[in-house]
Amino acid sequence: MRLRRRSLDSYIQYIGRYILQLIAYFSQAVNTMNMNGISTHGTSSALYDAHFHPADIRISKEIPSILQDMIQSGIRGCVANATGEHDWDAVLEIASAHAWIRPAIGIHPWWAAGAGNGWYRKWIQLLDEHPGCLIGEIGLDLAMRDPDIHAQREVFRLQMSEAAIRRIPATIHCIRAWKELHEEMKTFLPLESGFLLHSFNGPSESIESWTNAGAYFSVSACEAGSYNPSRIRLLKQIPFERLLIETDAPNRPPPEACSTHPLFDRDTGKRIHHPADLHAALAWLSQILGLPESELAPGLASNYFSLFGHQNAPRLNP
Ligand SMILES: [Zn+2]
Repeated sequence: MRLRRRSLDSYIQYIGRYILQLIAYFSQAVNTMNMNGISTHGTSSALYDAHFHPADIRISKEIPSILQDMIQSGIRGCVANATGEHDWDAVLEIASAHAWIRPAIGIHPWWAAGAGNGWYRKWIQLLDEHPGCLIGEIGLDLAMRDPDIHAQREVFRLQMSEAAIRRIPATIHCIRAWKELHEEMKTFLPLESGFLLHSFNGPSESIESWTNAGAYFSVSACEAGSYNPSRIRLLKQIPFERLLIETDAPNRPPPEACSTHPLFDRDTGKRIHHPADLHAALAWLSQILGLPESELAPGLASNYFSLFGHQNAPRLNP
């Protein structure tokens, strides 16, 4: 009986996964037709960047050509994350002009202590005005210089609570604050809408409980070329149906050898991350997981849709 139940469960999972892949396939086809006539030749796998920052001052001035590069590299969707009140409007504006870009607004833990008095009211108002908007980048960070964890927790709590009430998947940044993160989130868990632990670097023994709580995990192209055995073991523990790829561009570029789109900060001359280098994440994961890119990419695409839904699809309010 138990065996029969297990095979029924896996059959249902198989059908569900097949349906998501079909949805991903048709969405990719529709998106390709909707790319404003920009050539998309030379691409084989449609890719989805779970996390980047188009309004970052290092790339915002060049964003039209950067977005064209992304499209020509086969990127068919992405989540554009804001980091604070200063870039919410810019992120929403970029997303409103491009149906394949999903906006996410929130206050990053680095800016939590300096958040102005009126931030919460303005944030709620923008969420009300943009029903398809996601929540991010929010979180906790004990690795930053002089962290004000009290302020971080207060700002995170307000945002997480809103994400839970509105059933919007939040994108979460957490560095060395896993205990505190769990303390702040436990009353909301499990979250049916899911949430993203971006650039996941938490302890491997927590993967199962975060998965049961609704977590998805994204890995960044900046790790391409790195083959640390313990890191690989950890990544292999993430259930495949919860895995996503991201760039976090313009932050943390991949090694030069893995980059096809070199980009430099005009002010400092430092190398920065071009989001079209998302391919580096795909190639690296393909090696680590032993899966051909042609199989890996549709799976990652269906995970992206499973968490974030479809472009411009408003999420239901309770
Ligand atoms: Zn980020």
